[in-house]
Order: sequence, then C-alpha cells, then structure tokens
Amino acid sequence: MDSSEQRVAPRRIAVGHWHPPGSSRAEPARLDLRGRTLTVSLDGAPGDPVAIGDLASVAISDRVGRIPRRLEFNTGALFETLDNEAIDDLLKGRRVNRMGAVHWLEQFHPRLLVLVAAVVLLAASIYRYGVPALVELAVWMTPPVAERAMATGTLASLDKAVFKPSTLPQERRDEIAGDFRELAGFAARGRDGYTLNFRGGGVIGPNAFALPGGTLVLTDELVELAGDDEEAILGVLAHEIGHVDRQHSLRQVYRSAGTAALIMLIAGDIGDAGEDLLTGGAALLSLSYSRGAESDADHVSVELMHKAGHDPRSIARFFQLIEEKLKVKGKSSILSTHPGTAERREQVDRWIAEME
Ligand SMILES: [Zn+2]
Repeated sequence: MDSSEQRVAPRRIAVGHWHPPGSSRAEPARLDLRGRTLTVSLDGAPGDPVAIGDLASVAISDRVGRIPRRLEFNTGALFETLDNEAIDDLLKGRRVNRMGAVHWLEQFHPRLLVLVAAVVLLAASIYRYGVPALVELAVWMTPPVAERAMATGTLASLDKAVFKPSTLPQERRDEIAGDFRELAGFAARGRDGYTLNFRGGGVIGPNAFALPGGTLVLTDELVELAGDDEEAILGVLAHEIGHVDRQHSLRQVYRSAGTAALIMLIAGDIGDAGEDLLTGGAALLSLSYSRGAESDADHVSVELMHKAGHDPRSIARFFQLIEEKLKVKGKSSILSTHPGTAERREQVDRWIAEME
C-alpha cells in the first residue's frame, strides 16, 4: 500500500466469512477494497484487518451456481461470500485495471502480429500454390471425352453468338486442311488428333483458336489477312497446336472457374454450373493466355514447322503481318489475345538460331 492509496476511502465489497490459514474456523467478516488493496476485517472487531492482499495477487474462484466464492490470500487465509454479483463486479474492475488497452497491446501485440502474419501467409500460399495445384489436378482428371464435349459445346455456343459459316472457297479450305493434316502428322497427337474448323469470325475478325481436346478454329479473316502467305497460316495453326498440346485452354477454363467450382469438378459433382462452365463459350471467348503460354505455343510452332519441313519463322512473319495491317485499326482481338508480338518475333529468331 502506498501513500496515495491510503488516502482513498475503503469501499465495502461484500460480507461473508473469514477462515484463518489452515483452519476450518469461520468468523463473520467483511471484504473492503482500498485502491487496489483488498482487506478482510472481522465483524465487531475494529482493529487491524486480518488479511491484506493486492487485488491482482488474490486468487478468486470461478462462479459456480450458488456455491460461495472463495478469495484466497497469499497467507493461505480464505474469505468466502455468497455475494456472486459483488465478486463479479470486483473481477471486472480487476480485468480493466490489469489489462487496460495499452497494457493488453504490450502483452499481446507481438504474438498477435505473428498470428496475423501467419494467417496472411497461409492464405497467400493457398492462392499461390493451392489453386494452380487444383487446376493441374482437374486437367489431369479430365478425360479426353470430356474435353471433346467441352469443345463441341463451346463451338456450338460460339456459332450461335459470334461465328458465321465460312465463305472461303471450298478448294481454298481443302488446300489449308490438307496442309494442316500433314503438319499435324508431326505433332504430339498425330494426324487425327486435331480437327480444323473454318468459320467467319464476325466481331472477332482475324483469329485462330484452340479449344480443349484438339479442336481448332480458323477464321476466314485470318486467311484473308495472310493473303498468299500460306506458310504464315500454317505457322499460326502450329502455334494453336502448341496450345492444344500444352492444354492451355483447359487450364484457362479451370483457372477462371474459381476454387469452389474446381473442387466440385474434381469431386465429380459437376451440376448445372459445371456444365455451363464446360460448354459455355463465354469463358473461352474471353481467354487470353499468359505470356508464358503464348511463348510455349510459339516454341511449339517453331519446332513443329521445322520438323514438318516448313519455314519455322512463319509465326514471326505472321506477327509482323498483323502488326502492319492491324496497327491502324487500333486494338484488335488477335492483338489483345496475342500481345507483345515484337518481343515474340525476337524470341522466335533466337530459337531458330539455336536450332541451326
Ligand atoms: Zn496463342
């Protein structure tokens, strides 16, 4: 007790009984609080308190029904009271005093910071490693028949929403299809592993797509853009073969599906949302692959064209073509889904230099 506490008037907390240390004797007593000091005084005994203890050092039993509360002082003396409310109020005061805001922060801040950091790290690593892992698992688990169903559904939606029937002369189509089959013979899935579809691109304009399962789409506008440069068209198709072989579109669909849908897919509970996801064209239409995926597909194009005895630089020449011809039109679909053409041309040149 310091001098400042002595000036504070004692406050009556409760009445009850006092048990001397190690004794079962019970004497009527009262509990007072002066500042932060608890005292027990015997009824009818005006002398010094029989027990003194700092509020923080007195052990106070939990509230259990109507069982008397026990306050144990350092000396082993006990004060018992039936006044639960009074003791609860006393405890409230103790908590505020002992763990005021500043005190609480001092005591827990470092631990809290570590906890928060751990939670953030965990969430980030689930996002960083968990989702790609789920995507890979879903890709691995997708049977070829499901990929073909996805491609058929997507192509049907795109036909309704965007594409028009091809108006290329049949002999031009046959010529491209023949060259494509020959090229595909050198690719991972072989001649029959890929299907080339001709379409009028509509709002999409000059472009080529790889749907899951080896289904490719080539728009009339791209053929027209390439003009006489048949090799450039083959270079683009070889690039799309690269997207097929690396399963880029399937990955992209799954990536855009979100974690919950992926888990449903992997668990085998496809449902309506899953069917929409797999067959709706929207997801694939809005696709633009990552730079890494584009680079992979370019590399496949270079190697495949080389293997098939074509000009491996064709894909780079096509980039140059669209840069020149589409520059004036500003943002075009093929440039937005196939960005960074200048750097990619340089990369193609480096790969070719390595091959020679
Ligand atoms: Zn691409």
